Amino acid sequence: MPKAPNVEGLKLTPYWWESAPSPESDHSDIPVTADVGIVGAGFAGMMAALTLARAGRSVVVFDALKAGAGGSSRNGGICSGNLKFSLSGLIGKFGLEKGKDIFQEGINARSSLRKLIEDEGIDCGFKMTGRFDGAMHVNDYEQMGRESDLMNKHFDLGVYLVPRDKQHEELGTDFYKGGQVRPDIGGAQPAELHRGIYQRAVEAGVRVVDETEITSIVKGNSDFTLSWAKGSIVTGHCIVATNGYTDKVTSWLRRRIVAVPSQLIATDELDQGLINRLMPKGRMIGETRNIFNYYRPSPDGKRIIFGGRRGADTDDDMQKCLHLYHNLVEIFPELEGVRLSHTWWGYTGHSFNYLPHLTVHDGIHYATGFCGSGVVWAPWLGKKAALMIIGDKENARSNFDEMPFPTRPFYNGNPWFLPAVIGWYSLKDRMNQGRKH
Ligand SMILES: Cc1cc2nc3c(=O)[nH]c(=O)nc-3n(C[C@H](O)[C@H](O)[C@H](O)COP(=O)(O)OP(=O)(O)OC[C@H]3O[C@@H](n4cnc5c(N)ncnc54)[C@H](O)[C@@H]3O)c2cc1C
Repeated sequence: MPKAPNVEGLKLTPYWWESAPSPESDHSDIPVTADVGIVGAGFAGMMAALTLARAGRSVVVFDALKAGAGGSSRNGGICSGNLKFSLSGLIGKFGLEKGKDIFQEGINARSSLRKLIEDEGIDCGFKMTGRFDGAMHVNDYEQMGRESDLMNKHFDLGVYLVPRDKQHEELGTDFYKGGQVRPDIGGAQPAELHRGIYQRAVEAGVRVVDETEITSIVKGNSDFTLSWAKGSIVTGHCIVATNGYTDKVTSWLRRRIVAVPSQLIATDELDQGLINRLMPKGRMIGETRNIFNYYRPSPDGKRIIFGGRRGADTDDDMQKCLHLYHNLVEIFPELEGVRLSHTWWGYTGHSFNYLPHLTVHDGIHYATGFCGSGVVWAPWLGKKAALMIIGDKENARSNFDEMPFPTRPFYNGNPWFLPAVIGWYSLKDRMNQGRKH
């Protein structure tokens, strides 16, 4: 057992909110009609709103929390556009051409986010840092080699392996059995990214109404009525962008999304020599565990932001914080006893087929199911939902607009099975870690 961390003054709010607190919205004179009503003011909802407003549509966005205070300002800021399936997994599931096409859409979505940040001048610490994924076992390392060859064969990504004896050039740890570098992946400060999209949308004329939970969406002959405790609005179209925060207002979606909590810790500012040794290249980091950790340096390169599954067996923030700290110290023993400045958590939204979805059901447009990778996917599919409404069929096209969106018998949005699933995968991880090589 490592020595306890220093948690004096630990804040239970995202580190990201220090430089980018949630924007304030205006509750006066909420319009009674609009072309489009959007539920959810995260990346997906705000990107849809920006796109629609620039195409001349009147848009009102509602959020039950402060705008962005769902997953979009709580995440790790890793801009991967990855899916739960590797390239070989996609090819195995969908065949060569379709599998490649889906993988290519991830590349396009990532480039589109980068272009958005550059074109709009969004100041969010975005850097093409590259990503290092650590192998938990030599078999994982060998599998990474096959996957890297496949990615380089079909896409010009320059993926490469780093053997264990060179690992310290990437990461100051002996914990992994080598790893893989994806130079095409970067990182951003997510709350600053959200704030940038939010500001551009408001400048384009979008009206955002925060801390206002939509309690019903009623479809009329050619419109929708969205209601909240104190009022209602009639809109020509409706987009639901609630992902891991989906509630009973959309029971159809609730039966299709599993809200999985994830938590992060931030260390205090570290000695510069120490952080240079631990993260010499400032990469985004992942690993091959099923119940994996994801981590990175803060954009100013002074702290480590370290995340992982929160699990579903307790609501105790401190217990989860200590669990993450133990994982951190297992990887970087030099951090034993480090001071933690922040810990926070939020919901990711998973679909049963592990894919994002852009779906129209009963006239409502849904952009959702980002499975923990929404920094890239949510703005991408939010924009495409808007393009569908605008009627720009060519640019609205996505591999995720035609996928079946499965549910499970008797599932109504209460993921009672999560502790068992997480327990099973944790056991598999421990067995994999304990295997001889
Ligand atoms: C801790 C954590 C770490 C993560 N790390 C990464 C990462 O490093 N990289 C990555 O790519 N992804 C990551 N993710 C996932 C990513 O944050 C999400 O996929 C993404 O933010 C989803 O954006 P969104 O706009 O779809 O939904 P959200 O930003 O979650 O917004 C949904 C909003 O809908 C609102 N809402 C719900 N119901 C209603 C209602 N009835 N009325 C009004 N409003 C409603 C909620 O209040 C919420 O604000 C992480 C997520 C978490 C929680």
